[in-house]
Amino acid sequence: MTLLERRVRSVLLFELLSGMWLTLVYFFRPKVTLNYPLEKGPLSPRFRGEHALRRYESGEERCIACKLCEAICPAQAITIEAEPRPDGSRRTTRYDLDMTKCIYCGFCQEACPVDAIVEGPNFEFATETRAELMYNKDKLLANGDRWEAEIAANIERDAPYR
Ligand code: SF4
Ligand code: SF4
Repeated sequence: MTLLERRVRSVLLFELLSGMWLTLVYFFRPKVTLNYPLEKGPLSPRFRGEHALRRYESGEERCIACKLCEAICPAQAITIEAEPRPDGSRRTTRYDLDMTKCIYCGFCQEACPVDAIVEGPNFEFATETRAELMYNKDKLLANGDRWEAEIAANIERDAPYR
């Protein structure tokens, strides 16, 4: 660009006007940003968020303490202890999940034969302290109770592809 052309563009405020034109064009285009957290984008039924332990409709825990999730976890984030109940059924007495170790690979969910441990749709579980990310069985069951409808719907939506 010659010196004369640069001067003409400068006098006519070309850069300013082209910037304003671009702003005007984008003003009328569909918005691509979301007003988070008031608006949220769609999530895949395979989204791997916060963990939860599910129950059957009767309220009974699904988990049968087979420890497959503990064995397969590559981050060794799961710790389980179990003992038989008086009725002979086997249930966990301890189910700890260290969320600071978890890499959200989803292996625990894949390994579970009864769909007990799952990674639900919740991604808003940031905490202020590390201790709050040490989940125990009560916390995981509470997550399951809270998100059961969404988790069950996601499993159903994903079932044809498995
Ligand atoms: S998602 Fe992966 S890393 Fe996290 S608890 Fe499950 S198996 Fe372990
Ligand atoms: S959550 Fe599933 S895989 Fe893990 S111990 Fe319970 S039944 Fe077994």
